[in-house]
Amino acid sequence: MIPLAPKAAENAKNGIIDIPHLSLLRFIQPEDLVKSFREKFDHDPVGVSLPIVSPDGLLFPVEGTGDPLSPFAQPRVSGLTDFFDVVRAFAAMGLEIYLILEPSLKFTNAFPLYIRDVFGDHQSQLCIYNPGSRDLLKSIIITVIYKCLEVCAEIRRGCIKGVVLDLSDILPLSAENDRMALNCFCPACESWWAENAAPSAPLQRFRDFPSPWNLVLKQTRTGGIAYIENIQWDTTPHEIEGLTRQRGWDQTFNGIFGDNATVLLSYMRRRHEQIISVVQDLFDSVLCGLDDFKIRRILLIEGVDYCWTSGLFLGRLHEEKSIDELWYDPWLGPGARIERDQQLTRLKPYRTYLWRRARYFIDSFFEGYAGVVTGYRSSTDAVLTNMLVSRARQTIISSIASKTTLSTLLPLMISKDGTGKAGRIGYVSPILDNNFFFKAIQEAIRLRAGLSGDELIAKQMKNESDISKSGANGE
Ligand SMILES: [Zn+2]
Repeated sequence: MIPLAPKAAENAKNGIIDIPHLSLLRFIQPEDLVKSFREKFDHDPVGVSLPIVSPDGLLFPVEGTGDPLSPFAQPRVSGLTDFFDVVRAFAAMGLEIYLILEPSLKFTNAFPLYIRDVFGDHQSQLCIYNPGSRDLLKSIIITVIYKCLEVCAEIRRGCIKGVVLDLSDILPLSAENDRMALNCFCPACESWWAENAAPSAPLQRFRDFPSPWNLVLKQTRTGGIAYIENIQWDTTPHEIEGLTRQRGWDQTFNGIFGDNATVLLSYMRRRHEQIISVVQDLFDSVLCGLDDFKIRRILLIEGVDYCWTSGLFLGRLHEEKSIDELWYDPWLGPGARIERDQQLTRLKPYRTYLWRRARYFIDSFFEGYAGVVTGYRSSTDAVLTNMLVSRARQTIISSIASKTTLSTLLPLMISKDGTGKAGRIGYVSPILDNNFFFKAIQEAIRLRAGLSGDELIAKQMKNESDISKSGANGE
C-alpha cells in the first residue's frame, strides 16, 4: 500500500488558484475562494491567476479599441467595483498575481484579423500571428501590466509574478467528410508559409485529399476530430506511418503513404516555429523595460507531446529562451509522464495544471457562456441551458483537482524561498464545482433576459453565422 498522505501533503504546497472567468466573483468572495482552496488541498495558495479578457468582452477599457466591456467587468462582491479592485483584493491577501490571456478575443469585431482554415473559411477568433492581432493583444497586456504595477505598488512591490498565455485552442480543428480544415491559413499566415515552408512541403499538399493530416487526424462519427498526439519533434516518418497503421487509419491511403509523413512532420515543425515567434514577440514587446520586476513569461498548454490546437511540441519548449515557465496537465498519467517530465524539465520549471486538457474544456464552456450572456446566440432558453449544461458536464468530468492527483506527481523542486530553476515547482487549480456551474448557468439566462428585444435581434443578426461555425469546432 502506497502511503499517499505524506506525499500528497508535500506536493500540495506552492499552489495557485486559477480563476478562468470573473463570473466566479459574482457568487464567491475572494476570501471564500481562498478558503475553498485551503479546504481542498490543506494548504493556502501562494498565488492567483486572473483572466485579463473574457470571451464575452474586455475586463477594463483599452485605449484604441472599440470592443465591448464584459458583463462581468464589475465583480459585484465585497464592494469590488472593477478588475483592478480584484487585483488589489488578492494582492492584499499576500497572494502573487498572475495575469492570464486567452488570445482568441472572440468578442472583437475585427474580420480581417480572424483565422481562416485551409479552405479559406473564417471563424470569429483572432489569428495570433497576424501583426494587427498582436498589436491588439499587446495593447491589452501593456494596459493591464502598468495599471497592476500601480495598484500593487500601494500594497507591496513584486506581487505581479507572471504573464500567462493560454494557448489551449488558438488553432481549432474541424472536418467535413474527413477533409481536414485546419487553421490558420489567413493571408498573413500564407505569407509566412511562403517564406518558411520547406520546398518539399508546399501548402498545396494540404488542399488535396488525402492530405498528410489524414495520417494522424480522423473525423469521428459525432463530427469531432480524433487525433494522434504522441508525436515528438524527432519522431520519424516511419514511426508516423506505424502510428497510422496502429489506429487503422491507413485505409485512407490504400496503404500507400508516399512522402506524406515527411511533409506532415515538416508542417508540424514549421507551425511550432511560427507560434513560438509570436510568443517571443508578445513577451518581448509587453515586458520591454520591466526587467526589474522579474515578471515571468509563462505558457499554458496541454500536457501532450504535440498539441494540435496550439501547434506546439511540449518537449521542444524546454529549450525556448523566450519562456520562463510552463503550465500543463499531467494527462498521460503518472507512469508515462514521470520519465518524460524528468527529461523535459531539466532546463525549465513547470507547474501541473489540475484539469484534463488544461484549459480546453473550461474555455469551451465559457465560450458558449459568452454567446448566451451577450445575446449573440439565438435560441430558446431551454436549448441554451441544455448547451451550457452539456459543456458544464464535460468540464466537470475533466477535473483532476484533488490531493490524490497531487500525490502521483513528481516531488517539488523548490528552494526555501519558493522558487525553482527547473522541474516541478507547484500546481495550478481552478476551483469549479457543480454549485458554481448551476449558479453561473442561472445567471447567464438571467442576463440574457435583461437584454432588450432590439439588442438581441441586432446582435444575433451580426454574429449568428460566426458563432454557429466556431461552436462546431474542436469538440
Ligand atoms: Zn493566420
